[in-house]
Amino acid sequence: MARNSRFDILFEPVRIGPVTAPNRFYQTPHALGMGYTKPQAAAALRGIKAEGGWGVVCTEYCSIHPSSDDSPFGFLTLWDEDDVRALALTMDAVHAHGSLAAVELWHGGAHANNRLTREPLLAPSDQSAAYLQPGQARAMDKADISEFRGWQKAAALRARQAGADIVYVYAGHDYLPFQFLSPRTNHRVDEYGGTLENRVRLLKEMIVDTKDAVGSDCAVAVRLGVDELQGAAGITWDGEGREVVEMLAEVPDLWDVNVAGSLGNDSRSSRFSEEGFQEDYVAFVKQVTSKPVVSVGRFTSPDAMVGQITRGIQDFIGAARPSIADPFLPLKIKQGREDEIRECIGCNICRSANNEGVPLRCTQNPTMGEEWRRGWHPERIGQAKSDAHILVVGAGPAGLEASLALGQRGYHVTLAEASGVTGGRVVREASLPGLSNWIRVRDYRQQLLRTMPNVELYLESALSAENVMELGVDHVVIATGSTWRRDGIGTSVECALGKGIGECALTPDDVFAGADISGRVVIYDDEHYAMGGALCERLADQGCDVTLVTPEARISAWAVMTDEQFFIQQRLLEKGVKPVFSHRIAGVEPGTLATSCIYTGRVSEHGFDTLVLVTGRLPKRKLFDALVAEPDSLAAHGIRSVTRLGDCLVPSSIADAVHAGHRYARELDEPVSNAPVRRERPGLTH
Ligand code: ADP
Ligand code: SF4
Repeated sequence: MARNSRFDILFEPVRIGPVTAPNRFYQTPHALGMGYTKPQAAAALRGIKAEGGWGVVCTEYCSIHPSSDDSPFGFLTLWDEDDVRALALTMDAVHAHGSLAAVELWHGGAHANNRLTREPLLAPSDQSAAYLQPGQARAMDKADISEFRGWQKAAALRARQAGADIVYVYAGHDYLPFQFLSPRTNHRVDEYGGTLENRVRLLKEMIVDTKDAVGSDCAVAVRLGVDELQGAAGITWDGEGREVVEMLAEVPDLWDVNVAGSLGNDSRSSRFSEEGFQEDYVAFVKQVTSKPVVSVGRFTSPDAMVGQITRGIQDFIGAARPSIADPFLPLKIKQGREDEIRECIGCNICRSANNEGVPLRCTQNPTMGEEWRRGWHPERIGQAKSDAHILVVGAGPAGLEASLALGQRGYHVTLAEASGVTGGRVVREASLPGLSNWIRVRDYRQQLLRTMPNVELYLESALSAENVMELGVDHVVIATGSTWRRDGIGTSVECALGKGIGECALTPDDVFAGADISGRVVIYDDEHYAMGGALCERLADQGCDVTLVTPEARISAWAVMTDEQFFIQQRLLEKGVKPVFSHRIAGVEPGTLATSCIYTGRVSEHGFDTLVLVTGRLPKRKLFDALVAEPDSLAAHGIRSVTRLGDCLVPSSIADAVHAGHRYARELDEPVSNAPVRRERPGLTH
């Protein structure tokens, strides 16, 4: 297909100092959760981004010195020659597709962990450590600053040696150079503190030093947080943020700008931000500098991208999450296949991987993080090894993805769905406040399935075991999902609390089924991710008087991993939801929930008109059990396997259901391996 000419502007080359990007698609730095221990996995992943058309591909944060380590999270290092060799794998993988490779040099200052190196933390002024509690960071003296500048230079030289085309000076996200910039953290009284000119000094020196070191071959980019969302207490886009850019306007070769503060500010989930939400903060930068500018905004719409360029907001389309959800986004636009873009849903499960110290995963893209260790490619999949006909029962995320990937392999697939729509749980969850983008999990798959002649979809088709037997298929996939529990069992309650609870309480399934709810509502959340908080919000919006009881010490506690917890609690408190923390369910009677304090055991009572239990889930396995109970009948009907997957096997995230569906499709008719994932073991050759 030919490219739509209105997108031509996205494919113009852009000069950045001494190098030229082949187009405007710029994969900004993002964590992989792989770091220096998994260089082959990282190289394969970044290489696929370049193959998919990203003209610039950046690494994750790359420490310039052992005084900045982020263990146990996955961070890169450029401390020695071994690091150079490891990083070169990524640089080479990016160059293999004609893209520019960028390295985000990093020093975390008071925001580093240093649990690995046990080096003292450094900061502009004595201050508490952000993460290494109960530790502190020590104020750098002049000798420290001079040494620090040397580390940046040495790391820049190593980055060039590894093959970098663009080298970063990273003054964002509350890391060391930003700590010098911000009046919140810089309390110095020497020439590096006080006036803005003084607080900018180190950043300016770093840019000049880096240019001196590598500037003849490499572009030097500055990543700057132009607003730290702290109001007058910090840097703001229309105050000192702008002044910093004005002071340094022509010094770097490229400006990579965003909102600073915690990482959660700039990679906000779709629940708390729209596509392009940073525009108001960063739009001024291009008016102040002639150098190219890049920013991010979860851009997945080609028209919005064109608007960014034609309206003069930025010169590139910066993207982290959209490039994770679809590494081939640029190529799809280039080939006139923009309808096939696997749009990021903004759920931030990718952020959770880094926050949990494990390799990247993505709800929309099951191949993300699996490029090297399982050999999965986002756009290529092995051809079918037989002419088997597969029945997939249930068109939730697991069933849809299994059908899509099986169909792409060339298998004959029949997908049967009990209800009148596809999507399963995402249809329900996307109806909750702020989660509408989640429906993209369904939409992306549904529209591709409709174009596949070898996949038949039957709605309103609740299948029984007899129905399945009669269909004459070779393999059966049961992806019938799960139901919310009614017995109170959740993360912190392991035993059922006796009969009767379910009769006095609703579950999220009942709420979605249209239960009549008003008055005093108690939501008991022992799941701790999105559901409890989102239901509170919906019911508060409907005018209910909502109390949220949780055994945790904060609302939606696990959402700290998706960088959403703060925003969820803030929103619910603003909407008048009353939280009760550190209490688990102890019993329910009509109209009264008894809870006990997890520390003292003291019992409290909470009156309600409606109680909603958001606890555990149970697999809907009736159909599976009925089938496997009759092996002779299965054999007589030619059914060679019955496999349950997704929530029907083990209720979990949408990301896990999609991954399970994809994995089934990849592994059908393939040899079974005892070691499904390759692991990198430093010191051993592969
Ligand atoms: P997952 O996340 O594992 O994909 P979901 O709960 O989102 O699970 O989706 C399961 C889907 O299976 C739902 O759309 C449900 O309507 C469908 N389903 C459940 N039982 C049957 C059945 N017996 N026949 C056909 N579809 C079914
Ligand atoms: Fe987007 Fe969610 Fe994938 Fe992250 S995990 S890239 S937010 S779809």
